[in-house]
Amino acid sequence: MRVILIGPPGSGKGTQGDLVGNKYGYPKISTGDILRLEVQEGTPLGKKAKAAMDQGDLVSDDIVVEIVKKRILQPDCSKGYVLDGFPRNVSQAQGLEEMEGNRAEIVMNISLTEKALISRLSARRVCFRCGAVYNLLARHPKKDGLCDVCQSKLIQRQDDRPGVIKERLKVYHRQTEPLIGYYKEKKVYHRIDGEGKIEAIFDEISSILDREIILQEEVDAAR
Ligand SMILES: [Zn+2]
Repeated sequence: MRVILIGPPGSGKGTQGDLVGNKYGYPKISTGDILRLEVQEGTPLGKKAKAAMDQGDLVSDDIVVEIVKKRILQPDCSKGYVLDGFPRNVSQAQGLEEMEGNRAEIVMNISLTEKALISRLSARRVCFRCGAVYNLLARHPKKDGLCDVCQSKLIQRQDDRPGVIKERLKVYHRQTEPLIGYYKEKKVYHRIDGEGKIEAIFDEISSILDREIILQEEVDAAR
């Protein structure tokens, strides 16, 4: 089973991906995490990615597809895996289909209004030293502006500023609408309301996934 979580930045799909991974024993593959690691390490791939992210742009399909491909061929992905942040557009989805066309898949789109997303994202602060993430709305540091873990200064990432967020969302929607159409046509698409509590959203995702897993087992048994 391949679980694809789509949703704009700030939709909470990373959290939902962790929950799905833990419950079903699927590794969660977050392209955002992998890319950020490349950026921190300053690899050639990371440098290219950083230049794009600083502009509020998305990283090129070629770079992202290469990274994901390496990851899903690992043995821990044989039973299933969760993709968080990939594919972002139809071209990447086709790349995925070429890599692994036979695997059963389910796509869940966690949706929120632009207003809710901007308020969530612009409240995010990150420790420049250890990378701990805070949110002035939900997870406030104990001392204003300082990391609980290492007492270093908290910063607002370039791509969490409102102007950049709006640009990111515009790019996101432009690329994601055709992707949604692509998965609707494949009849694997589900829309999830992302405004509620984490637990309620996860219950909805779980019940859809449970149903799909049972269906898939019946298909496999009939073969
Ligand atoms: Zn810190």
